[in-house]
Amino acid sequence: MRILVIGQGGREHALVWKLKQDPRIKEIFVAPGNGGTAGIATNVPVEVDDIKGLVNLCIQEGINLVVPAPELPLTLGIVDACRDAGIACFGPDAYAAKLEGSKSFAKDVMYAAGVPTAEFGAFDNYDDAVAYVKAKGAPIVIKADGLAAGKGVVVAMNMTEALGALEEIMVGNIFKDSGSKVVIEEMMEGEEVSCLAFCDGERALLLPSAQDHKRVYDDDKGPNTGGMGAYSPMPLVLENRHQEILDLIFKPVLEHLKKEGHPFKGILYAGLMLTKSGIKVVEFNVRFGDPECQPLLMRLEDNLLDLMSSCIKGALYKDKINVSDDVSVGIVIAAEGYPGSYKKGMEIKGITEAEKLADNKLKVFHSGTKLENGVLSSTGGRVLCVTALAPSLDEAIKLGYQGVSCIDMPYSQYRTDIGAKGIKNQK
Ligand code: ATP
Repeated sequence: MRILVIGQGGREHALVWKLKQDPRIKEIFVAPGNGGTAGIATNVPVEVDDIKGLVNLCIQEGINLVVPAPELPLTLGIVDACRDAGIACFGPDAYAAKLEGSKSFAKDVMYAAGVPTAEFGAFDNYDDAVAYVKAKGAPIVIKADGLAAGKGVVVAMNMTEALGALEEIMVGNIFKDSGSKVVIEEMMEGEEVSCLAFCDGERALLLPSAQDHKRVYDDDKGPNTGGMGAYSPMPLVLENRHQEILDLIFKPVLEHLKKEGHPFKGILYAGLMLTKSGIKVVEFNVRFGDPECQPLLMRLEDNLLDLMSSCIKGALYKDKINVSDDVSVGIVIAAEGYPGSYKKGMEIKGITEAEKLADNKLKVFHSGTKLENGVLSSTGGRVLCVTALAPSLDEAIKLGYQGVSCIDMPYSQYRTDIGAKGIKNQK
């Protein structure tokens, strides 16, 4: 078995690390990969949006399975292109990937399938959008319809912010085509939780819940980022709520897309909010989240290749996923200044020392790193995700931060409260 993983973040390093444990897999290629994947797989310099180049790479290297990790290749149709070339690819086709690629498409699917979500309006005309915001009043949430790397959402607490956001997106075109349409939503309040499921077109197999920490600073302050850390499980959504979530969200969405002729295969990620009036969907992603993927894969005991292959075949073979009872926590180390401008090229030391703290229970996944002439240095905003596994959340947090303290990288930052919300919610 020869596998191509597409992407270059911590999620991709975790996927390669997990797949690598399977003796049936002879070789793993990563396009383009990072300093972490370089050590355990073969990095190939093909970019994630180069669909033709990726398919050619698969043909050249005799790839049997493609695992696209980020959303871009999925929305650009990597699954469709692989299908045409006769190569198995784990993920939804371009149509079903619009669940993430277009927020108005996702909202339409949720409405058609009866899935609870915030009330909304979708507009491609600026004056109509302004009139809707004025009629609804603040607080209100303004979202660019298309992909905007997590930056296309403004939770506006007053009218000035709301109208300013609309103008920037629709008149200033700050997100280019992604903002030619906007979704305007009622603001919801509550704890957020990530629920991810392996889907085979008909059935969904839920992974344990996880909680991300999107803001850059402690206590959820500062701007949104790609995610500064995550832990699993989130204490308010344990296994006893899985059936409710499957019935309320996953089953209706899968049924709807199947009827549309595009059965959803791959990972469906529901970003949920636990509001006073029940569970509501904030967003769908059509792939593993980063950083949720790292703590989730640390807990996964089932064979990842078998799960992926059975989804592609439309034949999920079990009802319950096997995961470790241990709790996991992933803490992101980022470059100072991220998500704004930041330095690159800082040398990174201490990973071996961190991983020695606990055999198989502490893993440092690389996000934005490169390995050149034996020197590891930073190449991105999010650089590492120190991920720990322990019998309790307290212990996992403690071990994770011990790992963080072993890492030596100048001009770095991290949150000191990853998992603290979980401790609060355990009480
Ligand atoms: P990402 O892909 O980075 O997760 P995104 O750009 O797809 O983000 P959303 O997930 O829809 O955008 O929103 C980002 C964040 O904004 C959410 O995690 C949530 O905190 C907040 N948010 C979005 N919609 C609402 C809403 N209707 N009410 C309150 N907060 C919201």
